[in-house]
Amino acid sequence: MKIQAVRGMQDILPAQKKLYRRVEDAARATLDAYGYQEVGLPLLEQTRLFQRSVGENTDIVAKEMYTFEDRNGDSLTLRPEGTASCVRFGEENGLFFNQMQRLWYSGPMFRHERPQKGRYRQFEQIGVECFGMPGPDIDSELLLLCARIWRKLGIEDQLRLELNSLGNSETRDQFTTHLVEYLSRYLNDLDEESQRRLKTNPLRILDSKDDRTRDILKEAPVLSQFLDDESRQHIDSLCAMLDQSGVSYLINPAIVRGLDYYNRTVFEWVTDNLGAQGTVCGGGRYDGLVSQLGGKDTPAVGFAMGLDRLAMMLPSVDEDSAGLDIFFVSQGGAARAAAVGLAEDLRNALNAKSIQVHCGGGKFKAQLKKADASGASLAIILGEEEVENGTVGVKYLRSRREQITVNQSELAIWCQSHFGKE
Ligand code: ATP
Ligand code: MG
Repeated sequence: MKIQAVRGMQDILPAQKKLYRRVEDAARATLDAYGYQEVGLPLLEQTRLFQRSVGENTDIVAKEMYTFEDRNGDSLTLRPEGTASCVRFGEENGLFFNQMQRLWYSGPMFRHERPQKGRYRQFEQIGVECFGMPGPDIDSELLLLCARIWRKLGIEDQLRLELNSLGNSETRDQFTTHLVEYLSRYLNDLDEESQRRLKTNPLRILDSKDDRTRDILKEAPVLSQFLDDESRQHIDSLCAMLDQSGVSYLINPAIVRGLDYYNRTVFEWVTDNLGAQGTVCGGGRYDGLVSQLGGKDTPAVGFAMGLDRLAMMLPSVDEDSAGLDIFFVSQGGAARAAAVGLAEDLRNALNAKSIQVHCGGGKFKAQLKKADASGASLAIILGEEEVENGTVGVKYLRSRREQITVNQSELAIWCQSHFGKE
């Protein structure tokens, strides 16, 4: 029996990976432009880190983590998200005390969820975390940064920003108490999951997709009734800043996020084009997390975007093309060796052009077919005759021009001028 990939672990084919790359490039360029610094975080952390930050009763910790004992008997977990790791990282490396930090990271996260379109057990995120800034100004900066990435990708029209404020911990406690009191009256009418959550994580009931539960929720107390003054000011200023910058948003009181550490600002960027998995980016403030994990009180705010879902929103690219510029074809041992050497010369001389040498021999005609399929604009041809004369044949693959002959010693300069004129 052939061995297959583990369920929920995606294989990403070249054409698909190109879309991921476009998302990453757009995000990286934007983060650079805002002066954010990239950091590298491990994939494995102590299990305790997530238990103590994300929360014991959250979906992630209660049922989605890949946890195992390593050879020393330590309980380790493949990271299900990056914020807790980033806080651990910043604290351990002394980045927080009296400092402001704008950090980001990217890579796979792991959650044992039910796999479906847009939901995998290994998925890619880019996470952005800011530390040491308590005001709404940094919240708005993060949202503007997101909006700029969406514009770069040309998907801004498909995404809407939904915002909410969770207030402070008293807000949450008061609201939770009232919510539980209200929902308990309808206990038997709630869906099973929500009945369970009523005991473990009542706020998540607001996320329920069950029609009956949604109906009951219509009359439920709303969190904003319990907001403290400072939190109200915070969200009001944030909204004013967004208004001023022309970023539109929707206040959605149902957004509570699935993790325990959030307070005040929470947000999601949502699309209607991906079915049920419509949230491509989510985040918010977590002012209590650094101290909760043993550090000094440090205000913090961040978000994570899901690359798998964002890549699905982009128009697909040509499946076959490797996106080459120059493709070398050759016949005969001497020609093959010359092609390898000339290709290296061109890689030295030409900036950002991709050049490939056909390997494995074969007839010229078959090789040229490969050259054409590679997307290259030029095929450079070497046979016995060219080797003897110190020349190459240059065939234009994307225009009807006649094939020409160029001296090998002048090939690099010829190519520079050819691509310069393009
Ligand atoms: P969802 O409500 O879709 O389960 P979430 O609230 O669990 O999302 P976060 O933990 O906030 O998601 O992660 C941020 C982003 O990472 C999500 O908006 C989504 O784009 C992506 N993401 C989360 N879980 C998965 C997954 N299992 N597969 C693919 N992408 C995911
Ligand atoms: Mg989830």
